[in-house]
Amino acid sequence: MILENGIVRTLEPSMPTARALAIAGDVVAGGVGTHEQALASPDVVDLGGRCVLPGFNDAHVHFPTWALAQRQVRLEGTQSLDEALQRVAAAVRDVEPGRWLRGLGWRSGDWSPPVEPTKDALDRVTGDTPTALMARDYHSLWLNSAGLARANGELEAEGGVVVRDDRGEPTGVLREECAWHFRDAYVRPTDDEMLEASREGIKLANARGVTAVHDKDGWLGALAVFQRLQSEGSLSLRVWESHPKDDLGALLALPLAGPFGNDFLRLGYVKAFMDGTLGSQTARMLDGAGVEITSRAELEETIVRAAGRGFSVAVHAIGDRANRDALDAFAATREAWKGLRPRVEHAQLLAREDIGRFAELGVACSVQFSHAPSDRDLADRFWAGKTDGAYAYRSLWDSGAVVANGSDAPIEELDPWAGICAGVLRTIDDRPAWHPEQRLTLDEALIATCVTPPWLAGDERRRGKLTPGFLADLVVLDRDPFAVEPEELPSIQVVATMVGGRWVHNPPPWA
Ligand SMILES: [Zn+2]
Repeated sequence: MILENGIVRTLEPSMPTARALAIAGDVVAGGVGTHEQALASPDVVDLGGRCVLPGFNDAHVHFPTWALAQRQVRLEGTQSLDEALQRVAAAVRDVEPGRWLRGLGWRSGDWSPPVEPTKDALDRVTGDTPTALMARDYHSLWLNSAGLARANGELEAEGGVVVRDDRGEPTGVLREECAWHFRDAYVRPTDDEMLEASREGIKLANARGVTAVHDKDGWLGALAVFQRLQSEGSLSLRVWESHPKDDLGALLALPLAGPFGNDFLRLGYVKAFMDGTLGSQTARMLDGAGVEITSRAELEETIVRAAGRGFSVAVHAIGDRANRDALDAFAATREAWKGLRPRVEHAQLLAREDIGRFAELGVACSVQFSHAPSDRDLADRFWAGKTDGAYAYRSLWDSGAVVANGSDAPIEELDPWAGICAGVLRTIDDRPAWHPEQRLTLDEALIATCVTPPWLAGDERRRGKLTPGFLADLVVLDRDPFAVEPEELPSIQVVATMVGGRWVHNPPPWA
């Protein structure tokens, strides 16, 4: 197949653009005028002046959770507790008897008047329907009385918080490990629910130009979900799957020497958490605030055990203390993980003196460009005076750090183009850029989204660029983003998506 009459941006510095692209089977055969003459009666696709880029690889997504979230009551953007309760009231009518009402997306920091959610407020609109509403950052869970009752009072968990009132009664909000334990024990979706939602989610992701993801839902059984989707033929994106640190023994019990799988699905790395989040005010800070989920010593042990079997670690760290502890742990274990590609997820708030350490150590930053403009108000409030080191993508890039971009969906939408725009513009509304000194160029934002994630998965010689021999994973955009003013970038649309030489969204011809 030959794609011609457009602009192909290869993201290979030695030959950044081509007028056409030849594809043979599942790989790129060449640029213009090279191998395509050798193909027998090639299919020709008229790009009509459109732009071709390597497919988008979302480096941080909770895929089944995001897919399921498409079907739940959504509380994003609610301005008050009352508005949130109205949405819940509308959704509760559709819940079948005996089922949970699930929802997500609330952030009490956005509500005015300022108020924390309670089970009493929720009980008024949900009655006896057990209700579990995950906070936007997934680190707090808001339950009603019928939901809480499922636990028979067993709410405490190490590394978590049960919010209580003056009388010591749970208010209905659980944080960190308490929230997750409750969810896993009582609100977990069934395998069939995950499968159905993920099948639809893959189509939606493909429609947004996604050809690969790094999934974070290993703890939820995502590997089996993707395996089933692959065997039925509907896995049309490539998955680099995580395994939870808390279940490391199970991974190490398998006779594996490193990542295992195929071109579409690979069990790749171990995921750990150092701390909580900005929104829940559980990020672990140098001033002592926050929640420690994994200690530096524990992380060191995890890194060494995983590395001994060829697995690298991806560790969630938000606060400046959490990031320092993670960096210290990687520094102390450097010999053990040499040759692997470890990463810090989020790296949201960094002490100045820690910014250069990612490059020095060779630890990648897996960040989410959308978080900066989306969290700006919370960051200005909770991290006042410290935001110079927050979402510091330009500083990290200039220090030589490996920077990968993801969405953290469902916390932000799984929409890489929106993420790329956020990295370049540092705003998602009509306000001026937030910390504009931390903007990246379009080229850098694309590298972080298309090239670096495959590198993290060890696929840098096979994916992420449109050069001969690379897998033909690509996205067609309606215009060349390098030919428009930055402010126009958000209006660019994904036209079509190809994975391994096969159109998985909107095959040509295009009107
Ligand atoms: Zn995440």
